[in-house]
Amino acid sequence: QYGFFEDLDGWIRRNARISIILFNISRFREINEMHGYHFGNRVLQQYARRVYQVTENEGHSYRIDGTKFATISSTLTIPELRDKYDRFRASLREDFRVDGRKILLELNCGALRVDSTDVNSQTVYACLNFALEESKNRQRGGMVEFRNELNAANHRRLEILNTIRESVFRGYAGFHLLYQPVVDAETEELIGAEALLRWQNDRYGMVPPDAFVPVLETDALFPQLGDWILREALSGAARMLKNHPNFMISVNLSYSQLENPEFVSRVLQMLRETGFPADHLCLEITERCRLLDLELLQRVVVNLQGNGIQVAMDDFGTGFSSVGILKEIPFDTIKIDRSFVQRIEESETDRKAVQGITGLASIFDNRVCVEGVETAGMRDILRHFRVNSFQGYYYGRPQPMRELQKWEKPGAGKPLA
Ligand code: C2E
Ligand code: CA
Ligand code: CA
Repeated sequence: QYGFFEDLDGWIRRNARISIILFNISRFREINEMHGYHFGNRVLQQYARRVYQVTENEGHSYRIDGTKFATISSTLTIPELRDKYDRFRASLREDFRVDGRKILLELNCGALRVDSTDVNSQTVYACLNFALEESKNRQRGGMVEFRNELNAANHRRLEILNTIRESVFRGYAGFHLLYQPVVDAETEELIGAEALLRWQNDRYGMVPPDAFVPVLETDALFPQLGDWILREALSGAARMLKNHPNFMISVNLSYSQLENPEFVSRVLQMLRETGFPADHLCLEITERCRLLDLELLQRVVVNLQGNGIQVAMDDFGTGFSSVGILKEIPFDTIKIDRSFVQRIEESETDRKAVQGITGLASIFDNRVCVEGVETAGMRDILRHFRVNSFQGYYYGRPQPMRELQKWEKPGAGKPLA
């Protein structure tokens, strides 16, 4: 592991062009459980030997930790590494024996090309881990190159991620929160806001959270940034509470925060520190959190709710979301993703989909917030369904707290035509 980071930093300093893959064995625990720990060790030794054999003199291989290995090559391109990886996987499937026993190893793999000196090994490692997770969760082990569709932009993207990562250590320089209004579906009065993260600096301008949150989520530093976001959102919201006593603040969570066994007690501590009332905080769990162990998710949600904090399921209806999760976890609110409402004015099918989801939510007793409401026409259609609150550009873009404090509902203050 040390060798990997040391060598990697060395290559980057010398401005070498290198290809890196990070690969892992899935469900190795099952091998340990089935055959015992010692046998598991022997499997790993044999496997490592095979890894070194296929690498030969075309690169350097490292064991990172557990069952994670990496290869750095200055001669092979990513397509060449992909080819090698595919053949390696196939050869393991065909014939991998330890003490005469046939063992099936399933691999997954992330890849990255580095050709910039403006990155460090930690950022590279975060990107590789992100691609590795994608490989496991979406490609059934097929190699995933970190953003290969954007190869020209990749270089810049790495640099941006590197700078963003470093900002966390420089007192969160460049980070700030914007707040998007949430209104009551019937009265259109302001009932809350969602805190949305922004990062900005002179060199790269404003970078939207979609460009860095999913990558940094797998990074060891994210929980620290998550704490900052929560503390910042609570102190911002405390100012709103003075004039809007029902105001709820919604904050997005990442799965790496939820995984931390200290998570709930940290949230409670931040509430104590800021003096913010727990029952005015709503934590949004995104789609990606469903990759977590269901029991863990249940335990955390119930624990939060036991302390008065609300929990919302974000982006419902996208990706992996399933009806099953509504049955298992008592979310206070589900937020319907804006992809469902985008074409609601034209599409009968989309209207039926929203109707279906709101019907489902009523079975499980969830409140419903619809995101992405952009026009009065969309609002009018949505009012036919069982929707409790709206969020979207029609009511306001994400904005600084001082603007939210002056928020007025659409049409208010304007003379009647
Ligand atoms: P999200 O949680 O689904 O946030 C809503 C996104 O939809 C925001 O994008 C918001 O600006 C956008 N949006 C709201 N109303 C409308 C509308 O009417 N029309 C359109 N076209 N878009 C609308 P944003 O701020 O770029 O955030 C993107 C995603 O980044 C968020 O999606 C969330 O998953 C993630 N994110 C943002 N802030 C945080 C954070 O503090 N922590 C974590 N973990 N994730 C965050
Ligand atoms: Ca959200
Ligand atoms: Ca959302």
